[in-house]
Amino acid sequence: MIIVDTTRGAHDVIGEMDRPSAKEMIFDNAIYIHRGTQYVVTNLDLENRRCYVEQTDVNYFTDALVKRDIKVLEIDERTAAAGCEIVVGDILVRSQVAKFKKLRYQTHENVGYGEISLPEEEMHTRAVVLVFSEGSRAGTAVESLDATEIGPALSRIGTLVRNVAPVFLLCDPRDIGVAERVRDPHFEAAALYVYDSYPGGSGLSEAFLTRIDAILAASLDLLRGCPCSEGCPSCVGPRDPEEEIDGNPKEAVDHFLAGWLEEASG
Ligand SMILES: [Zn+2]
Repeated sequence: MIIVDTTRGAHDVIGEMDRPSAKEMIFDNAIYIHRGTQYVVTNLDLENRRCYVEQTDVNYFTDALVKRDIKVLEIDERTAAAGCEIVVGDILVRSQVAKFKKLRYQTHENVGYGEISLPEEEMHTRAVVLVFSEGSRAGTAVESLDATEIGPALSRIGTLVRNVAPVFLLCDPRDIGVAERVRDPHFEAAALYVYDSYPGGSGLSEAFLTRIDAILAASLDLLRGCPCSEGCPSCVGPRDPEEEIDGNPKEAVDHFLAGWLEEASG
């Protein structure tokens, strides 16, 4: 995807983005930052792989809300680690972006929504799945939550893991995708998928499995060491008034993760 700046009648190529990164970052009206300058996407021409942008100075950035459908294609390894059942294998990720959020810089406060019209994308890749199976320590931690809290708690654990894992995997946060399932149809339990954002995978799922204990322990450390009071973009994500967690989301995740990990180590 070639990025073309058309500010004040110009026609300058300012950058290039590979398709996996582009699909969730670039869409009509998306805010695109390039070398400290802010641009708005005025026209996304998928057919010719051109994205036309113009300079802007709005006080927000955009974040696509992606609906992901995951299908397990093949399981290569099943093991137990970190108090849960771990599965490594091939998955098919279908993603559809239909809406985006406008988030204020720094606070990540939601200041509006917009529509996106893009075709569905399919990707065959590798994943490591943390299955919170019944009877496992992670499964017991899930069962201790109210039914309505399971989704938000898993989603926030996903945010936390996505913030922490790149340090251990030596990758960019965009190189991994995370998706939570309150009740996964394949495993018939709550599950957290961590998958490679590049078709075919590049070894990140396997690397994640070898470092899983360290990644989860560092996740709890990051959460507890974060100076925010109720969650922020650097840890479990900012507070969201539409979410179903009663009280402080950071405390809820701390409680859940500590229950899962302390039982695992004891
Ligand atoms: Zn924080």
